Amino acid sequence: MFEYQAPENLLKDRIILVTGAGDGIGRVAAKTFAAHGATVILLGRTLEKLEHVYDEIEAAGHPQPALVPLNLESAQEHDFIELTNTLEQEFGRIDGILHNASLLGVRTPIESYDPVIWQQVMQVNVNAPFMLTQILMPLLENSENPSIVFTSSSVGRKSKAYWGAYAVSKFATEGLMQTLADELSNISKIRVNCINPGATRTQMRADAYPGEDPSTVAAPEDIMPLYLYLMGSDSQETHGQSLDAQ
Ligand code: NDP
Repeated sequence: MFEYQAPENLLKDRIILVTGAGDGIGRVAAKTFAAHGATVILLGRTLEKLEHVYDEIEAAGHPQPALVPLNLESAQEHDFIELTNTLEQEFGRIDGILHNASLLGVRTPIESYDPVIWQQVMQVNVNAPFMLTQILMPLLENSENPSIVFTSSSVGRKSKAYWGAYAVSKFATEGLMQTLADELSNISKIRVNCINPGATRTQMRADAYPGEDPSTVAAPEDIMPLYLYLMGSDSQETHGQSLDAQ
């Protein structure tokens, strides 16, 4: 496990957008960031799930979050522009983005992979994070210590049979991170990195490994040290890296 002990107020006054914040790792990351002082912007496709996370954060007495119901598969440029305008009016900046939302798609050979599902996976896992990052860069530049975190996977570094669009999308995620990191080196305060969460007990993991006993894999709470590290100022010198949470 990545070792880091975050100070309680690590993310005090920071504004952090989390995609896929309604469930799984994103839900726990949003709550963890809030518990360390951040105002979290909860983006996801299922409003009831986002509202539940919102209520949990409020009930715990953490900074009031913001809700952004948005389906990244169908979102258009005007949706991203609207989101940016709202964030600019409300906060004037953002300090971090956790690109966490992803689709698993199907586990099947390339030869028979459904092109419609391929497009959906690439849209949610690659195209939407690209568009969101691009449009939010001016708001990140308004932060003193901005951090972008993409979510990769072990199959985004070394692929395996039948992982199809998901694996290809995670290679693209690593490529997007590296390209952007190189562009921003020396000219921007923004740092850009990837997290590979490793096997983590969520719905996606259960879908990918239906025969696995969930109690044998890490809980989302266990992998939070790396998430906190990359969102806080202790990682200021970490840029262009792909790090393992476990
Ligand atoms: P889950 O499937 O449990 O959660 C994914 C979240 O993303 C859900 O909240 C989901 O919303 C949201 N989401 C999916 N599609 C969209 C969309 N079109 N628009 C907006 N939100 C969307 O996944 P995990 O928590 O397991 O995964 C989180 C990240 O970690 C992913 O990037 C995944 O690839 C990566 N990862 C996970 C591993 C694991 O073992 N769990 C291992 C390696 C990488 P909703 O709840 O409404 O469906």
